[in-house]
Amino acid sequence: MATSVDSVNDSSDYVKDYSCVACESKNIELCADFFCETCLKCFCQTCLYHHDQMFVNHVTYGRGESNKWPLTKTTEDLLLKCDVHNSETLKMFCQDHSQLCCSDCLLVNHRQCKNVALISESAKNPSVDIQQLSNKIQIILADLNKFKRSQEASIHFVEGSYSEKLQEIREVRKKLNADLDGLENSTLKELDTIRSTLQTSLKKDVDNCSRLKDELQQLSEAVQGLCDKSKKDIEFIASRKCLDKILESESYLKENSVKVQSSIIFKANIDLTST
Ligand SMILES: [Zn+2]
Ligand SMILES: [Zn+2]
Ligand SMILES: [Zn+2]
Ligand SMILES: [Zn+2]
Repeated sequence: MATSVDSVNDSSDYVKDYSCVACESKNIELCADFFCETCLKCFCQTCLYHHDQMFVNHVTYGRGESNKWPLTKTTEDLLLKCDVHNSETLKMFCQDHSQLCCSDCLLVNHRQCKNVALISESAKNPSVDIQQLSNKIQIILADLNKFKRSQEASIHFVEGSYSEKLQEIREVRKKLNADLDGLENSTLKELDTIRSTLQTSLKKDVDNCSRLKDELQQLSEAVQGLCDKSKKDIEFIASRKCLDKILESESYLKENSVKVQSSIIFKANIDLTST
């Protein structure tokens, strides 16, 4: 009655459904630890002790040998029920379709089939080795497990990669902000320069106008004071000065009044290169 920890763990799904029949008769629900091959009954540790006192020659099996135990109700139900019609039990096997059938299956899909036999008949000539199938299941289980673990690892990888990209996007955004700040600052500086250049030139015009205006005003007053004073020399000088100043003023106006109105033009370049 060797019981290894590993086999208990492996077969725990089967074993947990067995309860001790002796305890059950006393309305106590207790998990069975042994199966007697002769009585075809399961017992807990305590009840097995009493059983062994009475039946010295009965062979019993512990949980480690669950393959010697009968099928549990759950396992039996799982195997015997029709996968399509859950409330029905599998009774026939259709050779034509190579399919297990319940009575509903037969009615719906296999009325025309010629090679339908009772399962008890078909079971007489088993075509596949159950041990081979079991081995194949173990291989597929291992493959599924491997694939599952790899996909689980991928989930973590995707998460990590997501965080990384998120960080990168934030960095790009930060850099764009800094670049835009820099662009704004240099544009503002340019705007300041343009303003002061224009203001300087306009102020110079205002100053020149004021100077010419003052000089013409003074000459105009001086000329009026000369009227009827018969001072030919000074009159000559005055007229020369008036002529010069008039010429200077006219040419100044001619040169400068054609200047276009000063305004500042700003055109935003909204093309942002995509990163
Ligand atoms: Zn018991
Ligand atoms: Zn027994
Ligand atoms: Zn069915
Ligand atoms: Zn069929």
